[in-house]
Amino acid sequence: MSNAADGFFGQYGGRFVPPQLETPLAEVAEAYQEAIADPSFMAEYDALLTDYVGRPSPLFKAERLTQELSGATIYLKREDLNHTGAHKINHCLGEGLLAKRMGKKKLLAETGAGQHGVALATAAALLGLECEIHMGAIDIEKQRPNVVRMELLGATIVPVTSGGACLKDAVDSAFDVFAADYKDTFFAIGSVVGPHPYPTIVRDFQSIVGRETREQILAKENKLPDAVVACVGGGSNAMGIFNAFLDDESVKIFGVEPAGRDLSTIGEHAATMTHGTHGMLHGMKTMVLQDEDGEPSAVHSIASGLDYPGIGPQHAHLRDIGRVEYVHASDDETLDAFKLLCRTEGIIPALESCHALAHAMRIARSMSRDEVIVVNLSGRGDKDIDYVAGRLEESGK
Ligand SMILES: *Cc1c(COP(=O)(O)O)cnc(C)c1O
Repeated sequence: MSNAADGFFGQYGGRFVPPQLETPLAEVAEAYQEAIADPSFMAEYDALLTDYVGRPSPLFKAERLTQELSGATIYLKREDLNHTGAHKINHCLGEGLLAKRMGKKKLLAETGAGQHGVALATAAALLGLECEIHMGAIDIEKQRPNVVRMELLGATIVPVTSGGACLKDAVDSAFDVFAADYKDTFFAIGSVVGPHPYPTIVRDFQSIVGRETREQILAKENKLPDAVVACVGGGSNAMGIFNAFLDDESVKIFGVEPAGRDLSTIGEHAATMTHGTHGMLHGMKTMVLQDEDGEPSAVHSIASGLDYPGIGPQHAHLRDIGRVEYVHASDDETLDAFKLLCRTEGIIPALESCHALAHAMRIARSMSRDEVIVVNLSGRGDKDIDYVAGRLEESGK
């Protein structure tokens, strides 16, 4: 194991990988620094965000939701309106362009629920790159629609049957392929996690969300928001919107984790900041839900995109320095938020995003109308309606 000197956020982050991954990752870090210093690279990226993704995404004042809660004024950053229906396309296009610039032929990644795989396969199709997605055999069974989407987009799915045949095993499998074949392959991580430089690369490509939000809220309200709220799985949509407000002390910032079915039982939640301990996961130092041997714990969330036993290292640091407060919302609170947004605003949100919404609803009630909360609505909920229908049928609502 080696330990790169850079890529730390306080005591978290770094690059803790087997020696054979050191060179390929250093190559990515160097190419990234060159790319972002090259105006033609950024111009190409910006053009894709505009013409392909459909940016800027609107900042929408949710008037009926605000009235219903009779508290703070709530705005929604509409990442659900992006092409492919979530924020992930922002960093997948960035990673794809970087891969092309480095002369790579193939994008490689692991995926759990399949959302990262779909966004990456989309970027690969657009940019004319091959795409290879490693996925646990159990996840492949559970996430059929996303597997079909990836295949339609031209990606090759590699089923992983080792270990528990889930996300962690898919990560190991993809890393192995990368180490063996990095000449032609770009490893595209799906959130602000993993070894340096990925937490930085993914944050930077997502930071467009916060830059737009800042400009939009100043234009609409002539002031900064009082609070910014985002859900946190690995933490990419959250870092994307938080990044533009970190230096504004008047803006309270909240990251919302899944409390799942039961916060006091291992395997029934994914609240890494609440119950995690210092550890090592996916080549980084961060907070981890783990057992005494350092094996990542089983996790659960109603939102499969938040089902992750770790968190991006910058989040762990932002909590330590007291800049961001990490809270949680349960499956039931999330479902309530889902239903309320559907009915008050005509927007069917992703269950992931509803964690953020649930916390915004909680704090809005004790705030006044002239105070403003911005919620990052990270994705749309079409993918979730079958599941929600089942849950509502069960509970007779
Ligand atoms: C994947 C996903 C998330 C969680 O990922 P982060 O890296 O924590 O942002 C949140 N919302 C949606 C809609 C997603 O698809």
